[in-house]
Amino acid sequence: MEEQDGMKEKKLVLEQFEELYGGHGQIRLFFAPGRVNLIGEHTDYNGGHVFPCALGYGTYAAVRERQDRKVRLFSLNMPKEIIECDLDHLMPETDLGWEAYPQGVIWAYEKWGYSLPQGIDIAYAGNIPAGSGLSSSAAIEVVTAIAIKNLFNLEDVGLVKIAQLCQYAENHYNGLSCGIMDQFTSALGKKDTAIFLDTNTLDFDYVKLPLKDEKLVIVNSMVKHSLVSSAYNERQSECKRALCDLQEIMGINELCDLSPKLFDTYQSAIKDDICRKRARHVVHENARTLKAVDALVEGDLETFGKLMNESHVSMRDDYEVSCEEMDFLARLGWETPGVLGSRMTGGGFGGCTVSLVKEEAVEAFTQKVTGEYQKKFGIRPKVYVAEIGDGAREIAIES
Ligand code: ADP
Ligand code: MG
Repeated sequence: MEEQDGMKEKKLVLEQFEELYGGHGQIRLFFAPGRVNLIGEHTDYNGGHVFPCALGYGTYAAVRERQDRKVRLFSLNMPKEIIECDLDHLMPETDLGWEAYPQGVIWAYEKWGYSLPQGIDIAYAGNIPAGSGLSSSAAIEVVTAIAIKNLFNLEDVGLVKIAQLCQYAENHYNGLSCGIMDQFTSALGKKDTAIFLDTNTLDFDYVKLPLKDEKLVIVNSMVKHSLVSSAYNERQSECKRALCDLQEIMGINELCDLSPKLFDTYQSAIKDDICRKRARHVVHENARTLKAVDALVEGDLETFGKLMNESHVSMRDDYEVSCEEMDFLARLGWETPGVLGSRMTGGGFGGCTVSLVKEEAVEAFTQKVTGEYQKKFGIRPKVYVAEIGDGAREIAIES
């Protein structure tokens, strides 16, 4: 990840668009960010709370409508070929590449009753590393969705609906049983602010981050273990099994309807040991998220940081979605003076950690992480001080 202002990507994507597609007609430019989740992991498909922020990094899309029903897609981040399809023949298939993300969004619009009047040409350029847990997938979905909304004046499609539509696309076109957190954050993020979202009701509050002398530091481990999507769906079904067992003895709709106390009392109803562990993570993580937000609102960053650490431990031990590299990076955070909290962020099995770091310790933490991680794994991690930015939007093109 380079500059967070996207100057380079904006310029490149517009140049590339003209070079590839040529022709006439107004080109428009859109952006949707990636996200970093501060706490509340794997709660969003269990009716719980999450606390993410949108990043300055994201994906840009240069877009123009066509006169026929073709869709052409190109990404500067992918092998250099234009992918062409037809508005009327989109279908979920198993062997699709990256194009499944934008195609899924177009397909979802059609499914939801928004017949697009004509096709489009799109070129993408992103500056989030794909597959690192910062949700480049939501960014490409949401930027596609907002471009279509604006191009075709779909006035009743608000940002929440965009998030829901993109989640639907990822679930049903890409086959990943994800919750709504990533798409919601990409659509509705706000500068220097986290979103406290109840994924059950979609009620949310913006919480201004009370960071004065602290920074959010993201460390990219540069590893991604291949399990991600299969394990994700497996966790989702383990949670479902735990919920079904509990529903035999109590009237709950979601795992996150339970407090930790109630869970401790009734957990023996969950027959399978593994499913019980998964549910324990979910219930406790939800409670931790509520506590963490309270602490943050009171300006108690020490407590917020401790809850981040506990969140990592729970993902490591109960949810089992961590890996050696993530544990190593989180531990470096826990051991470094001036680091208030450190945890893996995103789905798991690699990707990034996020740490809350006192400004005066950022340099020492960066040095330590870079040196020790490289010594242990032979890979140079990337460290960024995160800028928390706004959600999806159209960008004026300067002539
Ligand atoms: P994450 O969302 O954590 O980055 P995912 O595996 O969910 O990881 O999504 C990454 C995938 O999204 C990529 O492999 C690619 O298929 C697609 N993708 C993301 N950004 C882009 C982009 N700018 N251009 C093309 N495809 C992209
Ligand atoms: Mg993703």
